[in-house]
Amino acid sequence: MKITLSTIKADIGGIGGHTRPSDEVINAVNDVVNNTEYNLLLDYYIGYTGDDIHIIMCHQHGLENNKIHRLAWDAFKEGTEIAKEQGLYGAGQDLLKNSFSGNVKGMGPGVAELEFEERDNEAFVVLAADKTEPGAFNFPFYRTFIDSRSNTGLIINPDLAEGVVINIMDVMTGKIAELHLWGDKPEVEAALMYPGRYVVESVMSKKGEPILSASTDRLHNIAGTYVGKDDPIAIVRCQKSFPATEEICSAFNSPHFVAGDTRGSHHLPLMPVKINTPASVNYSLPMVMALVFSVHNGKFTGPHDGFATPDWNHIRNIATQRALDMRSQGFIHPATLVPEELEYNKGYEVRMKKLEGLFSHKNKKRSIIQKQSSRINTGNFKNKKNKHVKSKR
Ligand code: MG
Ligand code: MG
Repeated sequence: MKITLSTIKADIGGIGGHTRPSDEVINAVNDVVNNTEYNLLLDYYIGYTGDDIHIIMCHQHGLENNKIHRLAWDAFKEGTEIAKEQGLYGAGQDLLKNSFSGNVKGMGPGVAELEFEERDNEAFVVLAADKTEPGAFNFPFYRTFIDSRSNTGLIINPDLAEGVVINIMDVMTGKIAELHLWGDKPEVEAALMYPGRYVVESVMSKKGEPILSASTDRLHNIAGTYVGKDDPIAIVRCQKSFPATEEICSAFNSPHFVAGDTRGSHHLPLMPVKINTPASVNYSLPMVMALVFSVHNGKFTGPHDGFATPDWNHIRNIATQRALDMRSQGFIHPATLVPEELEYNKGYEVRMKKLEGLFSHKNKKRSIIQKQSSRINTGNFKNKKNKHVKSKR
């Protein structure tokens, strides 16, 4: 049977900051999705990653279906009412429009969807991140689909060895490039090099089977100015002719530096965490979780917690150490982002405006001094000017 997986996520408020949603907010979201009056879903799962709530739905209504999107929107609206009642921080922060207009894309929530013919043993992983940006998945997706040092399946699995088709979005323009491995490998790498600009939007097999879909909206582009974190979520199908579950999840075992953290202003490692982990208040480490599912006749079994086994504690220790190392150099770049990527850059602009004024004054003074000293050093001055320098001293 043909099914659609729709994963829609939003930050609609956190307890005491950008930490995690309250149980009451999650219950309110669940009550709407569970309302049988909608009668749209074959199955669903609701959880959270830091302060983001994700609704993972299975149905047969296809991609970008307005009833499915409306269901998620209504659920987040209802949750927002509770978040406001509780005075949660950033209540409704990702719901950027007042009224629903047929599709939550461009309205604030992040969306990843796949439609496909269900295999006998259909398996997929939802990767849900917080305190970072969509490009945080560039490196692990590179490891999964391109780097045979990470994924031996790229050599020994005949389908993967043929290469995949990767759609990459330029998040500044919203345009998408379709790149074919292995011929376009250098161009894929050139794009993935800069995660703040180019992100993996989807991956397909050479036979046209959908493998991966990732949310790619950047909230500051939607709203015209920064209004919240654009934490990514992705669905990746696994096993058989697709990457193995382990080849997808192990791509997160070397915590790489991503943009995010407190005020979205730092580079810190992406830490793999257990399902339903609140954001750390030791700064706020970028985090990712792996929800591993089987689905059959549209019914989920799972999620199995992909990053819950003991070996991942070691990886979390590595991430913590890397984070402490980077934060130990305070605000000095590359601990912080480049100015145009700084999340709350209005304050930075004010600082720079004042600083620029000071620069012009001091530069003028400095250039006079430099001119004078260079004449003295080279002996290239006239007696008259020499007198002037001496008299100043
Ligand atoms: Mg928040
Ligand atoms: Mg968040």
